[in-house]
Amino acid sequence: MPWAGFSSRMTQFKFRIVPLPTEVADAARKAVSEGRPDHRMQVVDSPNTAPCRHCLEWAKPGERVILFPYEAIPTGKPYSESGPIFVHAEPCVRYSAESYPEAFREGRVFRAYDSGENIIDACLPNGEEPEEVIAKLFDNPETMAVHARSATRGCYTFKVERI
Ligand SMILES: [Zn+2]
Repeated sequence: MPWAGFSSRMTQFKFRIVPLPTEVADAARKAVSEGRPDHRMQVVDSPNTAPCRHCLEWAKPGERVILFPYEAIPTGKPYSESGPIFVHAEPCVRYSAESYPEAFREGRVFRAYDSGENIIDACLPNGEEPEEVIAKLFDNPETMAVHARSATRGCYTFKVERI
């Protein structure tokens, strides 16, 4: 009965989607206004190329975004990592739904981290829904967080935590 199991996971998504904190997005907006060299303002020219990590929507063509490095895992750990992300240049509403963000149903790979922020597992969905993949990674009691990243470019998109 695999389909029945899938349906129950869809209706019982027991995890919290954690978008980029608003203070990080606001700091990026301030930094670009101060001309910081590692923060770049650009205008989006084609759809589905610049995902805003704060509202968890793709920026639309013509919208301005800020490109800057973000430490998804802060320095000082073996898996420390800083990588490029976008946020809308204009203030946007932080994603707050209790469900998986529809804008990123495709094209994400998922990494599981333990309490020491070590990567302990990863999964590229192969026809499975993201909720199903995330639930499987959290089936391991050592999994404390799951990162969603671009499957092609590897860039951090958002975090998922246990509720
Ligand atoms: Zn946004």
